[in-house]
Amino acid sequence: MERPYPRLTPENAFFWTSGSDGTLRFLRCASCGHFLHPPLPRCPICLGSKIASVAVSGRAKVVARTINHHAWHAAFPPPYLIALVEIAEAPYVRLTTRIINCEPDEVEIGAPVRVVFERQGPAWLPLFELEPK
Ligand SMILES: [Zn+2]
Repeated sequence: MERPYPRLTPENAFFWTSGSDGTLRFLRCASCGHFLHPPLPRCPICLGSKIASVAVSGRAKVVARTINHHAWHAAFPPPYLIALVEIAEAPYVRLTTRIINCEPDEVEIGAPVRVVFERQGPAWLPLFELEPK
């Protein structure tokens, strides 16, 4: 069954299609280096308008997690793990995502993870998996 995917807009399409080459990208202010996520037209720190998407390593750290046991959607059989991760380059940039390719109870707070993309419709969803030990 097809899973739901985000609606692409001119403002967010770069983010949702970034994974087509296996790379996670965020908008970043060219003047002060602040990452902007969700996308914004202007930097909230220095008010600069030179904004460009930049590649990041795809590495992140789990800062919160929960295991869902309820069948909210037929395409998402429980149990599965929902996590909040902070990206390595800018810990204030956090993504709500799923951690895959492991058992849900293997994921601990602080666990290092790396991005893996799941294509759904026009979008490449940034999911994460545990870094190999
Ligand atoms: Zn700035």
